Amino acid sequence: MNTHYDVIIAGAGPGGSTCALTLKQSGLKVLMLEKETFPRDKICGDAVSSTAKRVLRQINPELEKELLQFERKTNITKAKLYSPTFESLEIEFPHVGHCIRRIDFDNWLFNKALTNPTLEVIQNTSLKNVTTDDKTATAITHNGEQFTAKIIVGCDGAHSIVAKKLAHFKVDRKHYSGATRQYYRNIKGLEGNALEVYFLKGFLPGYFWIFPLSNNEANVGFGMLSSTIADKKIDLKKSMHQIINDIPEVAERFKDAEALEDIKGFGLPLGSKKHTISGNRFMLCGDAASLIDPFSGEGIETAMESGKFAAEQIMRSFTQDAFSANDLKQYDERVYKKMWDNFQNHHLLQRLLGDRVWLINTLIKVGNIPYIKKKIPTIFY
Ligand SMILES: Cc1cc2nc3c(=O)[nH]c(=O)nc-3n(C[C@H](O)[C@H](O)[C@H](O)COP(=O)(O)OP(=O)(O)OC[C@H]3O[C@@H](n4cnc5c(N)ncnc54)[C@H](O)[C@@H]3O)c2cc1C
Repeated sequence: MNTHYDVIIAGAGPGGSTCALTLKQSGLKVLMLEKETFPRDKICGDAVSSTAKRVLRQINPELEKELLQFERKTNITKAKLYSPTFESLEIEFPHVGHCIRRIDFDNWLFNKALTNPTLEVIQNTSLKNVTTDDKTATAITHNGEQFTAKIIVGCDGAHSIVAKKLAHFKVDRKHYSGATRQYYRNIKGLEGNALEVYFLKGFLPGYFWIFPLSNNEANVGFGMLSSTIADKKIDLKKSMHQIINDIPEVAERFKDAEALEDIKGFGLPLGSKKHTISGNRFMLCGDAASLIDPFSGEGIETAMESGKFAAEQIMRSFTQDAFSANDLKQYDERVYKKMWDNFQNHHLLQRLLGDRVWLINTLIKVGNIPYIKKKIPTIFY
């Protein structure tokens, strides 16, 4: 087996697979190391936004067309926001998004990455350590194998080894969320084309969601800022159980529903704080770079877009033999130029709403005024 490559990508989720796919025409020898074996699940809300489709389209318009052929998906045209008094506000999306189980979506994208003829993938192998010097990046796996490359891209998710070892990231709970997920079948009154988001008294700041999947199934979850979880000693799984069973308006919907799994939880590194996301011979993408939208919790699209940007930076770096921290700064600039305004606005919204029941009630009322309702999508898109 080879041990020297041009590029090593750690992690084959949306960030890593998009990076590998974008490098398809580059001719560069790429190694992708993945801890799990595909198809693999990822705890998520499964909402794939229209921006993710735009990234696919930019790589190759055929990819978007193929995604639209997915059978196990729903077409999402709106969000329904519920206030603590259960008044609702419907927001029509300017472009159709989808809900696709991550086990399907990620496996599809991973298989697209495999069409890169100069890509080698080693699955079921964890990156344990990573170092860089003037000439190489070295990846060391859990079973002691060593691989070297000119550059390494950390797409290894919320618990990224690359971010920890090379960028010295630490969890900052004010810029990190925790969330749970449980798949259900047969929830009453499920609209197949609407993301349902509930701001519930006693469970703020945070939101509960019901996202429709194919086959009358749904992705149900609850998320909160980690600083609140720690301060108030909240047990997210218990809270989600209470929401589903004890809040009458919700419980009624779940009366005949069947849980398809136990409640599972995972972390969300939010984009509300700027980080240095590259350095000498490395770049970080997606969750490894903390690029999740601080209000909506969406991170698939930003993982894909940053994966694409990283690949494009790699191609530039190879033509110029330029891999230093200074050379790779352009990557940070490009990522934040694209995403930072959005992150800041959505962070402001997250902080403004907080646990202010009266404000959420008022905003949802005001949002129903036709003129304002028309303007709302422009805040989010
Ligand atoms: C409960 C919850 C709900 C969410 N809902 C949504 C939503 O509805 N829509 C949305 O857009 N986003 C959502 N997100 C965020 C979204 O899941 C992430 O932002 C997205 O998965 C980021 O993609 P990624 O490629 O950066 O990381 P990941 O998808 O986490 O992929 C990382 C990959 O790296 C692998 N890996 C990890 N460590 C190592 C290692 N040491 N060595 C090798 N491989 C490794 C993993 O196995 C994985 O395959 C949600 C997150 C949570 C937790």
